[in-house]
Parts: sequence; structure tokens; C-alpha cells
Amino acid sequence: MQQNSTSDVQKWFPSEDGNDEKRSELMDLIGQLIKGVDELKNPNQVNLKGQKNREGFFYEKLISESEIPSTGMPMKNVNDELLKLLHDHPYHSKYFLTNILPMASIPGILGMIAAFMVNGNNLWDVYGPAGAEAEVKVTAMMSKLAGYDAEKSGGYTTWGGQGAVYSGLRIAIAKMAPSALQEGVPGNFYAFCSEAAHYSLYKSMEAAGLGSHHLIKVKTHLDHSMDTEDLRRKLKEVCETGGIPVYIVATTGTTDAIGIDDVHDVRQAAEETSREFGLPVPHIHADSALGGFLAFFNDYDLKENALSFSPGVVEMISGIKEKMRHLHLADSLCFDFQKLGQTPYVTSLFLVKDANDLKRVDLDPDETPYVGHRGYGDYHTGYTLECSRMASSISMYSALMAFGREGYQKLFGQFLEVNFHFRKQLSERIPQAEIMNPDNYGMSTLFRIYPQGAPRFAEEISGKCSSEDVERNNRLNEKLFEKLGEQRDKIFFGDTKKHLLVGTREGIEVPLCVSKFFVISPYTMPEHVPHIIDYLKEQIDHVCQQYETFMTNEKGI
Ligand SMILES: *Cc1c(COP(=O)(O)O)cnc(C)c1O
Repeated sequence: MQQNSTSDVQKWFPSEDGNDEKRSELMDLIGQLIKGVDELKNPNQVNLKGQKNREGFFYEKLISESEIPSTGMPMKNVNDELLKLLHDHPYHSKYFLTNILPMASIPGILGMIAAFMVNGNNLWDVYGPAGAEAEVKVTAMMSKLAGYDAEKSGGYTTWGGQGAVYSGLRIAIAKMAPSALQEGVPGNFYAFCSEAAHYSLYKSMEAAGLGSHHLIKVKTHLDHSMDTEDLRRKLKEVCETGGIPVYIVATTGTTDAIGIDDVHDVRQAAEETSREFGLPVPHIHADSALGGFLAFFNDYDLKENALSFSPGVVEMISGIKEKMRHLHLADSLCFDFQKLGQTPYVTSLFLVKDANDLKRVDLDPDETPYVGHRGYGDYHTGYTLECSRMASSISMYSALMAFGREGYQKLFGQFLEVNFHFRKQLSERIPQAEIMNPDNYGMSTLFRIYPQGAPRFAEEISGKCSSEDVERNNRLNEKLFEKLGEQRDKIFFGDTKKHLLVGTREGIEVPLCVSKFFVISPYTMPEHVPHIIDYLKEQIDHVCQQYETFMTNEKGI
């Protein structure tokens, strides 16, 4: 009989035969990590406990001290080192209100672990059959949610909402000029998105060699959605001067304000202009990285209101449905599971309405000697920019199965409920603050503060303020950013220096600085809002007081 031989190097790997001893070793190590993190938690602050001094030459010191050890250390000790990395790390407690940075859910984490246990390569179903199966399932599930015909649609998991915007651009170019794949991109191609769009398209234009000067920014309405009349004008301008519009990105859920472009109107503008100039219709990508998940409300019956949402939330959902029902009119779209899907990074899904679009950017069999195009294996993703791919679809699948439609509706309903309370109490209790996205229903509320006697939002957007006025207001808001930022360990707000451009008397445009309240933690509840408002009021009063003292001194009084 052959004896099983063991070698020293096997200690670093899971067992070959599923024996109990190795399993409990692995479970203990995982337990050590989870317990270690639990010991660092404090629900009344944002960061995990522990010491971390990032002052001075923090990174420089890391560089000079870091060396690979000549002999490795026991895994238990490595775990201790890993836990030290997590000291003072931002954690998704109820006071984590900064941005769309979610907690990884238990189903999401388990999906990842399942994928890691076989570590298949999602490039080809011969190497990664589990990933391929989950990818096809998730693509079909999300296609149906978005209103695509799952028999005709296609998709794959990719590197973020950014990757999806870039993938859409690749297809857009290949559609308009199939020879561009061999000969390069024609110099008269243009892409369009709104001023409130994510910078993903800007970067994609650079990367595709089109150049960011070929990206045309379209004006937005006050609710941060694209002004499709301006789109029409700008499409025409490009066509009249010999340009060809190839790609329009409609943002269905802007990153800060959750403004939602009307995909129906965008498509209408694109089709009409194309007809007028005898050109093919540009590829329309709905950048639904963030907002796509709001489509979970599309089939929620507001009359029945089975989940007993409050009247305030019902009204918000009604506004969301009005826009999200047009999602299926886009040629491609994206679901960033790492945003509202509650899975770990990186888990993003790119979908195309017509799977044939993927063939336009696929590799020729001659170019893939290692994989695919064999008698065996039916699923080879030669059309992705990545070669090897993680099977992130397994984590998505796990979350979708565990949450179900209703679970996501409940979670997002809770996020909306907290925002509803926040908006109400902010308006009632903090007179210096104004809500900057009152018409957008999402999990984010943007607010801007004003010094006493200064022109406020209504005047700023009327275009009648001087740029000095707007910039003075901006400076006060930046002071608040600093103040909130210093104490972000207590309550972590977000902010942006480039919200909505407003015109001024001098005819120049100035972006507004605004703070952001983004509900993303499942632990933030309506009953926490009064304390959050108390805290905010104290900080705002302080900043405004300082500002007024400063202004009085300036005037030499
Ligand atoms: C977050 C976001 C992106 C970028 O997504 P990543 O996953 O970070 O690459 C693109 N577009 C929108 C609208 C986003 O909110």
C-alpha cells in the first residue's frame, strides 16, 4: 500500500482529503481574526480601537523598515500582525456617514470564501466552472431586475463601475467602427455625459486614446439629472462640425446627490439627432453603478405597501420608481455590488442588453492559444479586458440569495427612512443649513451652510450672486469640512468641493462646496438622528461664530 507522504510546505495549504485536523486548524485561524476584530469594535465611535500614529514620516518609515523575512513566522503570529493593520480603521458603525462605502455583509463574505476554496479562474469554465455558473446566473437575475430580456442579454463581472463605463466605451467604438480594433480609434469620435457624472468616463476617454477633449459635458437640472435639451444641442453641434457621437453615459444615480438621468429622454435625444444626420445611434450606457439597485423598488406596490414603509419613504420610493423604470432602455448598464449590493470589493457587474455586443470586442481564436476555443469548455470570456478574473459572481450570488428582493427593499427602505428624519430635523433645527438635493431620493443628503446675512442657495442658483459671494460661502463650508474631518472618528460625514456649478454675475461658473450625510451602515437608525443633529449643530454654530468674529475684525470694528 502506498503511504501518504507529507512535506513541510503543505502546512500552508488547506487539506487535500478534507481531514478534521486541518479543518479545525483553519477554523481556529479564521476565528482568531474574527474575534480579534470584534475586540477592536466600539459602536459609539467610527474607528476601530487601537493605536495608529500616521503623523510625520509614516509611509517613509514603512518603506525603510519593510523586508521579507528569511524564514516565515507561524500563521497565528501573522494573524496578530494582520490585526494590527486594522487598528484605528474606519468601521461601519452607526456614525459612518461619509460615502458609498458599505460594510461587507455575511452572505457577501461567505460567497468570497466559497470562491477562494477552489480558487477557480473565471477566465474559462474549464478552469473556473463555479464562477462561470454563478456569473451566468447573476447576469440573468440582474437582467430580469433591470427589465432586460435575459435570453438575449449578456454580462460579466469586472473591475468596478469604472470598468463598466470603460467596457461600454469599447463596445461603443467597435459598434461605430469595427475596424478600430485593428486600426485604432478614429479622431472624430465623441462621448457625452452630464456635469454630475462620475469621472470614470473622463478616465476612459484618456485610456481609449480618444482624449478627454472629446468628452462633452452636458448641463444638469437642479435635481442633478442630465438636461436632455442641452444634450440635443451638443449632439447637434458635434455632428455639424464633422464629429460622430459614439457613446452617451446616462448616470442613473449620481455618486453624491443620487440624481437620476432619464434614460428614456436620453435615448429619444440620441435617436432623433442620429436620424437627422443619418448616423447610427450612439451606444447608451446607464452608469447605474450606484443607483441600479434602486430598481429593487420597481415592482414594489406602493398602495399595498407590504413592508409598511412610512408615508415619507413611500413618497421617496415613488420618485425613484418614476426614473428607474427606464433603465432597460440603455444598451448596457452596471451594478456595483460593492456599493449597494453589500458584498466585498471588487464585485461589479457589467450588463449588455444584447449579448452579441460582446462579440464585437472578443478575441480572435488565433490570439488565445492557451484557453478557450476547444471542443471542451463552453464559456470563455475573451471579451473582457482582464485575462485572469476572480469569481466575484459567487459573492454576488450569495448576497442575492440571502437578501432576496425583499431584503434589499427593507435595507434601502431603512436608509431612506433615516434620510427622511435627517432632512426634517436639519431643516427644523439648523437655520444656517440648506439641503442641496431636496428633489433626489436616495440614501444621501447634501447640505451647505450660510453665514448670517449672506446670499443663500436660491440666489446662488439664480446666477445673480457675485463669484466673491459664492466663494465666501464656499470658504465657510470648507471650514466645516475641516472641523468635521478632524473629528471624523466620532461621526464621519462626507463632503465634496465640486457640487453643482452655479453661474455668477461675472459670467463665470463656480462649483459649490457641500457636506454629505450618506447612510450606508445597517446600524444607523432613525432614533440616532437627534444625536447626529445635536453634534452637527454644535459644530456648525462653532464654525459660524468663528467666521463672524473673523469678519468683524476684518471690518476693523
Ligand atoms: C462609484 C461609481 C463609479 C465607479 O465605480 P467603481 O466601482 O469605484 O469603479 C462610477 N460611476 C458611478 C455613478 C459611481 O457611483
